[in-house]
Amino acid sequence: MSTPRLVVLSTLAAVGLVSSVAAAQQSQSDPRYKVHDMSRPQPPVVDPGTPSSQAKAGTAPADAVVLFDGTNLSKWRAGNGDAAWKVVDGVIEVAAGTGSLITRESFGDCQFHIEWMVPTSLEPDGQKGCNSGVFFMEMYEVQILHSNGNETYPDGMAGSLYGQYPPLVNACRPQGEWNTYDIIFTAPRFNDNGSVKTPAYCTVLFNGVVVQNHVEFFGRTAHMRPAAYSKHPDRLPISIQDHGDKLRFRNIWVRPLGQ
Ligand code: MG
Repeated sequence: MSTPRLVVLSTLAAVGLVSSVAAAQQSQSDPRYKVHDMSRPQPPVVDPGTPSSQAKAGTAPADAVVLFDGTNLSKWRAGNGDAAWKVVDGVIEVAAGTGSLITRESFGDCQFHIEWMVPTSLEPDGQKGCNSGVFFMEMYEVQILHSNGNETYPDGMAGSLYGQYPPLVNACRPQGEWNTYDIIFTAPRFNDNGSVKTPAYCTVLFNGVVVQNHVEFFGRTAHMRPAAYSKHPDRLPISIQDHGDKLRFRNIWVRPLGQ
């Protein structure tokens, strides 16, 4: 609101001309309340946790589902049985060839945090030697790849929605350093006949930098072919890809949204 308009409204309010109008305005986000309604419930207070540094993983917000806090893989499984990935010095390392790490719990709309690192012992070569990914609902991939000085096709680099959208910028840190993803994922909705009611959406912050801004998935992640949807449940596990490379992960948590 500009200052002159504010002055006019304040003056009108002072003489009681806008109070009745203002009182009638209902909130556009929730018709149970009026605009500026003091009876609207206060949002919950949440301890946001401590931020990570390169040397030390931080902690999750108080209301998050902590998927890995540096101790064990109890929240995860493999495709057929317990997870075989290793926990060393508070960090998860991929046990190549044992299959993806899959959450035991299922999630739909969510905020997801993960930190990942490509150790200097690995030899990145395009898509090889440095590849993993976060798969929401085990279907929709946000690519993890060493993309600092390692060129590949843009829709397959770090921060891409694999095969669908390159990241807006390349915010990847040097090999051997920790990267963070903060991802807001919206699950797709389907009609009873299997058609898409609303598609999946994704926003990705890569080391705090927006690289995907509420973009629409075209469907389940696919390799070398267009993506398409097929009807599935509202909630499904999140998985971390075993692409055969010994990447490391820490401080993984998720906050279910709107459910
Ligand atoms: Mg991948």
